[in-house]
Amino acid sequence: MPKNDNYPASLVDSFGRKVDYIRLSITDRCDFRCVYCMSEDMQFLPRDEVLTLEECSRLVKAFVSLGVKKVRITGGEPLVRKDALWLFNEIGHLSGLNELVITTNGSQLEHQAQALKQAGVRRINISLDSLDAARFRKITRVGNLDKVLRGIAAAKQAGFEKIKLNTLLMRGVNDDEALPLVAFAIAQGIDISFIEEMPLGLVHHTRNSTYVSNEDTLKLLRARYDLIGSVENTGGPARYWRVPNTDTKVGFISPHSHNFCESCNRVRITSKGELYLCLGQENKVDLMPLLREYPRDDKPLIEAIIGSMNIKPKGHDFDLKRAAPAVIRFMSHTGG
Ligand code: SAM
Ligand code: SF4
Repeated sequence: MPKNDNYPASLVDSFGRKVDYIRLSITDRCDFRCVYCMSEDMQFLPRDEVLTLEECSRLVKAFVSLGVKKVRITGGEPLVRKDALWLFNEIGHLSGLNELVITTNGSQLEHQAQALKQAGVRRINISLDSLDAARFRKITRVGNLDKVLRGIAAAKQAGFEKIKLNTLLMRGVNDDEALPLVAFAIAQGIDISFIEEMPLGLVHHTRNSTYVSNEDTLKLLRARYDLIGSVENTGGPARYWRVPNTDTKVGFISPHSHNFCESCNRVRITSKGELYLCLGQENKVDLMPLLREYPRDDKPLIEAIIGSMNIKPKGHDFDLKRAAPAVIRFMSHTGG
């Protein structure tokens, strides 16, 4: 999309934060049913309520024309979307886009890692909460650990610049795996981040009793490794520590113990084209009607995106003590 001098070169919200990172969910569907993310009997969107891949591409191009430099494709599970690779090829080498990245559960990587790399994906996040097959199955309800491990091997083989595991620890479920998972990451020469569970969606497990603070995990890891604080910033909310004499960094994404809203640089788009200005709030703009009513005119779309900066909230207000989720929509709806 050509640059238009009438539009700003970058998106800035009313708190002065520059938004240069979007997370786009290309499907709400998934081949797993992780207990913290989905209910067992999830209802998925009908096909005509989901953005087409062409619409996804048009959205990415509009955001990049407004100064967005980093795009993360997520879901649901992005790689179960039919022809997802078409989209990666379409946007992978866009001028102005510095980084195209993906978050995946790894189940399809065995067959798609190479093609993703060729399409221009540089970094890849793979979610992995357990190295024990039975436990992995319990957490994901249906997932197959071996398949994911083969996916991780394929990603290494494909030669991504960075591979990072995302791990969500739950007390009494997998919190004894922090050390084995870090050891696994070190053995693989890849990074790992621990994510604190967020109160999104009505899931069937009690979050405040399973919550594991990243501060506790860091304490545990520091008793085993001489972690060195890193100033590295990958454009996301994680704080990183290097494991000496290895290629591995350990990150912590801590929405509860370390609120990261003041440096927030991103917005999220759901698979039905809702532009959410904050993961933990309801402020949104529906972009799908603009895409569909004006198939050949991007002006209304671009103006809606620029206008949305006025309603980006200051931050989330997640509170684990509250019985109800902070936000009713599931993480798989908003896109992790
Ligand atoms: N299916 C892909 C995957 O699992 O990586 C991408 C989408 S998933 C929603 C993205 C990330 O969100 C995963 O790493 C998952 O662990 C995380 N996630 C899901 N529900 C969460 C919650 N309630 N709190 C914190 N993280 C959550
Ligand atoms: Fe699927 Fe990812 Fe949610 Fe697990 S965390 S159910 S893999 S979308």
